[in-house]
Amino acid sequence: MKFKTIFITGASAGIGESCAEVFAEKGARLILLARRRDKLINLAADLLKKFGTETYSIECDVRNYKAVEKVINNLPDEWKSIDVLINNAGLARGIEKIQEGVLENWEEMIDTNIKGLLYMTRLILPEMIKRGEGHIVNIASLAGRYVYPGGNVYCATKFAVKALSESMLIDLNGTGIKVTNIDPGLVETEFSEVRFRGDKEKARKVYEGYTPLFGRDIAEIILFAVSRPQHVMIQDILITPTDQVNPYILNKKSN
Ligand code: NAP
Repeated sequence: MKFKTIFITGASAGIGESCAEVFAEKGARLILLARRRDKLINLAADLLKKFGTETYSIECDVRNYKAVEKVINNLPDEWKSIDVLINNAGLARGIEKIQEGVLENWEEMIDTNIKGLLYMTRLILPEMIKRGEGHIVNIASLAGRYVYPGGNVYCATKFAVKALSESMLIDLNGTGIKVTNIDPGLVETEFSEVRFRGDKEKARKVYEGYTPLFGRDIAEIILFAVSRPQHVMIQDILITPTDQVNPYILNKKSN
């Protein structure tokens, strides 16, 4: 990973932030993108101090195509050659049934999880294809393999990510570009707090009674997947806490 350029979307928290740390430890250069600039600035300063990491921070909303296009097209020359794009920015909002669904939540999930991932990928691929190498890592979910009560639109967006990962494999075959789809189960991050709009107590309960995954667990697996030799491509990985089989079977102790 030394001197490789890794572009991480959603780097200001959770899995994305852990990816930044794990790749920084290995000597990579990082492009960090999220909406919360202060978080990115603090992370970049921390990584510089700990590992001497070179970073380029971008405050951007992946839902805004014009903004994403501007950012990618105006990358400084020394940041234009991207080795790995980690399409991680994403979120869930609410657990309402479809008949009670909140349109604003649907739009936000669809625009971020599907359209944002597509915009990033569309804008970054041409340069990778020109070089004949590169790696796209899409963070889907266990929710992209199973639907669960209250999951409806969030699950649909993650099923879509899975479909897009498979489509990328087909479309990019012969270009030298690798694609890896990552399906995490329960990971303790800001995810549930965002889903429940800041209700910390409700969010805490999601991770109670068992040991969930942590961002670093996922980041280390991504590092493994992207550090294989050029002729080896890991297409798809499902990672769950040891206590979780699927959204329905979770060994949760109540006390
Ligand atoms: P998190 O802690 O809430 O982090 C989400 C990241 O996405 C934040 O950095 C957030 O940054 C960024 N983001 C959200 N909307 C954005 C937008 N419109 N533009 C740019 N950045 C945006 O959640 P996480 O668990 O790490 O989630 C990361 C990915 O893993 C998501 O795709 C999620 O669906 C997936 N996942 C999570 C779990 C889990 O249990 N946690 C399980 C399976 C899959 P800003 O708010 O600063 O923009």
